[in-house]
Amino acid sequence: VRSHGCLRLLGTHLKDLLYTKHCVLFDCDGVIWNGEKAVVGAPEVVSLLKKRGKSVFFVTNNCTRPRDGYLQKFSRLGFSDVVQSDILSSAYCSAVYLRDVAKVQGKVYVIGGDGVYTELHEAGVPAVGREPEIPGATIYDCPLDSDVKAVLVGYDDKLNFLKLAKACCYLRDPDCLFLATDRDPWHPLPRGRVSPGSGSLAAALETAAGRRATVVGKPGRFMFDCIAGRFGVDPARTVMVGDRLETDILFGRTCGVDTVLTLTGVSTLEQAQGYRDSPASEEAACVPDYVVDTVADFLPALDE
Ligand code: PLP
Ligand code: CA
Repeated sequence: VRSHGCLRLLGTHLKDLLYTKHCVLFDCDGVIWNGEKAVVGAPEVVSLLKKRGKSVFFVTNNCTRPRDGYLQKFSRLGFSDVVQSDILSSAYCSAVYLRDVAKVQGKVYVIGGDGVYTELHEAGVPAVGREPEIPGATIYDCPLDSDVKAVLVGYDDKLNFLKLAKACCYLRDPDCLFLATDRDPWHPLPRGRVSPGSGSLAAALETAAGRRATVVGKPGRFMFDCIAGRFGVDPARTVMVGDRLETDILFGRTCGVDTVLTLTGVSTLEQAQGYRDSPASEEAACVPDYVVDTVADFLPALDE
């Protein structure tokens, strides 16, 4: 049983922590905003961190928008000094992975939306998958493209049976690469509703294809490698702030950075303490080093 973790970050302790860190990674939904509402104080925290000379990056598993769409969202929600290179999304990183790591020679069949298609296009990776279907078509009516060398599955609110079936056919070829943007299971919506996440779609396709996807997003370390490779970030001088234990906190731990759970999103203090008090080692990896109620708690520590 771990006796440490879940430390409440307050006052000088928070100031000392920020003093030792050069780089702050923020998850987006549940941390700096909830849907279309900024978390109170979050824009000021980001501005002040930057003014104090810190590197700030946003690491989101949300693949629905291209980075340019996030830039507009940051500005709409009152974040005034964010630039595109601060933003790492699972859509953008999937495109980077396909181009630079897998070096895919051919087309990618996509289950996903605008965010994924735009990022693939900007990375110069050819994508197919949103051509209109003949009404009433079955899998027998759909030509398969012999140039497809990879399948990428992410959040797709236009998912249908035929798309799953086609992806499944492409994945019969063991040389066809199988990638998922992220494994997020679901997301909270206003008024107590929830939305199934990319992970639920990836799981359906994995079951049908009898294969496991390579996952680009958190908690995998690829998004951190994208930042570290480009900006020379030192994990020892970095802190990750997130709201979901199984993605953000595990991500931070996997990348060797200190972690802060903020309680404005999905996971609760009780869940974090439950993980801390559990004997299972995979649960220990989801225990945050620190806990705050909200990122606004950083404000007093950023006073001159
Ligand atoms: N994916 C989708 C489709 C979402 O709607 C959300 C949150 O709203 C996320 C992922 C999670 O994003 P983040 O990693 O910023 O919490
Ligand atoms: Ca989140």
